[in-house]
Amino acid sequence: MSETNQMTGDMPVEEFRKVGHQLIDWAADYLKNIETFPVLPNIEPGEIEKRLPKEAPKHGEDFDKIINDLEKNIIPGITHWNHPNFMAYFNSTSSGPGILGELLSAVFNTNGMLWKSSPANAELEFVVVNWFKQMLGLNQDFFGIVYDTASTSSFHAIAAARERTSLKIRNKGLASRKELPKLILYASEQAHSSIEKDAIALGIGKENVRLIEVDKDFRMKTNVLKEIIEEDKKNGFLPFCVVATIGTTSTTSVDPVDEIAEICKKENIWLHVDAAYAGVTAMLPEMKNFFKGVDKADSFVVNPHKWLFTPVDFSILYTTKPNILKQAFSLTPEYLKTQEEDKIINYMDYGIQLGRRFRALKFWFIIRYFGVAGLQNRIREHMRLARLFSKWIDENPNFERLAPVNFGTVCFRAVPQDVRNEEMLNNLNEELMESINRTGKLFLSHTKLNGKFTIRVVTSGLRTEERHVREAYELITEKLTENMTFN
Ligand SMILES: *Cc1c(COP(=O)(O)O)cnc(C)c1O
Repeated sequence: MSETNQMTGDMPVEEFRKVGHQLIDWAADYLKNIETFPVLPNIEPGEIEKRLPKEAPKHGEDFDKIINDLEKNIIPGITHWNHPNFMAYFNSTSSGPGILGELLSAVFNTNGMLWKSSPANAELEFVVVNWFKQMLGLNQDFFGIVYDTASTSSFHAIAAARERTSLKIRNKGLASRKELPKLILYASEQAHSSIEKDAIALGIGKENVRLIEVDKDFRMKTNVLKEIIEEDKKNGFLPFCVVATIGTTSTTSVDPVDEIAEICKKENIWLHVDAAYAGVTAMLPEMKNFFKGVDKADSFVVNPHKWLFTPVDFSILYTTKPNILKQAFSLTPEYLKTQEEDKIINYMDYGIQLGRRFRALKFWFIIRYFGVAGLQNRIREHMRLARLFSKWIDENPNFERLAPVNFGTVCFRAVPQDVRNEEMLNNLNEELMESINRTGKLFLSHTKLNGKFTIRVVTSGLRTEERHVREAYELITEKLTENMTFN
């Protein structure tokens, strides 16, 4: 057994130093050799569980043994999100400074519920969300707060929208109130599922979420939005929130926020903008046209953990109505009252959670290490890679692109000349993707667009370079040839 601190049972500081150095070496080697790992593990469900003991060890074990087991039993079940050939979903990749920031926040282990419970947590969070607001070119009126994920950020935005209705739901709740109108939330049919989930959790009800039709480029049709709002009002319902998306999850389409903002203003509806993935591109002057109208939004969510090299989790909600958000969530028991309340921010007042990790630290490290220009360059390069891949797809008659390439994501499918039946095309593309993923060399994911099985390639990983995108294209064409000969 390891020599623990006799008084506390914890690892003695000198052992921590030694093991810590070893672990950093381990992590550095892992990152250095990441391309030697299969992107996706090749295992059956339950396999990792089977490798582990059914019961916790009664006595403490050596750290060496733990690390050994990590390599033997855990790594085989890891999907390597930091791998340059991870091109599925929206890939979250972490950077050196981000990893080190995460490590230090565990070292301090502060709980930033109140300013007083750790002033640096509150003030650094205030500073970095304001820096980032300037980097994105957002209006100075926006107040920012860090949550874990975009799902949670949007939950808070929709809760604030609900609070603004003057239906006193905070005090009286929703149940057994016959005088309440139905509250209606609007988003496009391409909106992220988290919006519906948030509406479910907030008592809005799934059937009161209107998923508005999209145009051929997968953008919300504003004339349809207008009509449905009218119809809902005629029925005595209360439209209270519209969610517009900049960079939808399936295709990265961009809703016409400017037009939607006009409608919301006229109808007195809260406008929430979900830019979880694509929001970071507002840092680039050439992308500004996608963000027209954002200044008129009541809230805006962006996830640095998706495309800004920040270890999961890190999402920022900006709102021009922090007082309403606070009104929805603030509740201070006696034991949490402090004296300086008018001079400082207690972030616990703006959300469901009391305890808060020191997330701002890793983001501060990242912004300082890369610099604004460094971050802009990475994002610009990822978008160049997406356009390059898209060009190869467009030039090859065996493929068809299925959505505009707005950011770092390309949607396409294979359309070999001799296969014209839609069902066969769907099967062929699904099998193509699965056969690629089985190689362990590349990880792709899919969506369905107008009934078509659509393969997505995402080039916004920190370690993804042109050679990886070229190899990905070569592997896809190679597997397509193989699949065609089989069929
Ligand atoms: C990924 C994504 C989300 C959800 O993000 P989480 O942080 O995982 O909750 C929400 N909206 C959009 C548009 C996304 O792409």
